[in-house]
Amino acid sequence: MISEQIATEIVKISPDGRNDNALRRAGDILRRGGLVVFPTETVYGLGANARSADACARIFAAKGRPQDNPLIVHVASPADAEEFCFTTPLYYKLAEAFMPGPITVIMPSRGVIPKEVTAGLDSVGVRCPSHPVAHHLLVAAGLPVAAPSANLSGRPSPTSADHVIADLFGRVDMIIDGGDADIGLESTIVKINEEGLILLRPGAVTYDALLCVCEKVSIAPAVTDPLSEEERPLSPGMKYRHYAPKAPLFLLEGNDEARRSFMIEKIASGENCLFLCYEEEMTLPGLKALSIGKKSDFETQGRRLFACLREADAAGVQCIYAPMPPRSGMGLALYNRLIRAAAHQVISL
Ligand code: AMP
Ligand code: MG
Repeated sequence: MISEQIATEIVKISPDGRNDNALRRAGDILRRGGLVVFPTETVYGLGANARSADACARIFAAKGRPQDNPLIVHVASPADAEEFCFTTPLYYKLAEAFMPGPITVIMPSRGVIPKEVTAGLDSVGVRCPSHPVAHHLLVAAGLPVAAPSANLSGRPSPTSADHVIADLFGRVDMIIDGGDADIGLESTIVKINEEGLILLRPGAVTYDALLCVCEKVSIAPAVTDPLSEEERPLSPGMKYRHYAPKAPLFLLEGNDEARRSFMIEKIASGENCLFLCYEEEMTLPGLKALSIGKKSDFETQGRRLFACLREADAAGVQCIYAPMPPRSGMGLALYNRLIRAAAHQVISL
């Protein structure tokens, strides 16, 4: 389905505040089957009534999203998931520890949420966002709200209203501008199974934090490794090339010294390239670079990564280089996004 041009209203709401009039109208739009973009603590979401196949079909059309990539369902309170999921005690342990917050839990579906939303799967992903604007919107709508990231499919997820406007203006009914996203990387996704949890997508709720709630947490191979063509991923979104800038991206595996030598070499060669760098590396003379934050500051790196990838796109370079993040803590979430943006191209220094 091709998305037709529609009138998009942009409303500004302070990140910690509420604007009852605007939120009431946004709730009305959702109840009538329209599309509302809203800020969350992770990235901006593109919301529609999760009970309506027609409303959610508009999400896929607006984003150009493949039909077999399911949508996450957002709720105002963890217990709201009872309507459409078979919950377990482990879900409530996760909810107590991490909700509202940046985690999505996949559980068996009761069949209330249309197959179009779950991409034919018999499970549903549930998320209860902590962003006050997202929370007030969910309360105003009085519905579960299906919402993927509010970007055109394949583009980096949006962490500011400007990113959303660049991708979706004219394709959605309303965009709520609530300022820059705090975390900047999408939610951690876990699936509950008989043994415990499978981590399908790392995020701000880290593997170690999950271990505090559940003894058995396994990491899906697709979090770190490329998928073979035949492999059916547990989470269909994992098979798509994501977050990809237009120019090829390479991750640099090596220590600070080796990376610095590589940069000096590239500056001397005159290659039309851009480096995503740590703050500490920005002083190198002649270097064309964007800072993703201090080397040890993973929170800032998470917050800036997608904006840097969009800026790198706009720079019109032939090639982009970025440092390889560590595969632990919040570094695992950065690694997961960067390795896919790089289509697994790594240069060992
Ligand atoms: P996005 O909202 O754009 O961050 O994408 C949502 C992600 O959640 C995708 O990677 C989906 O594959 C995943 N997801 C949503 N629902 C399910 C589900 N029922 N089972 C497995 N993965 C899911
Ligand atoms: Mg997305």
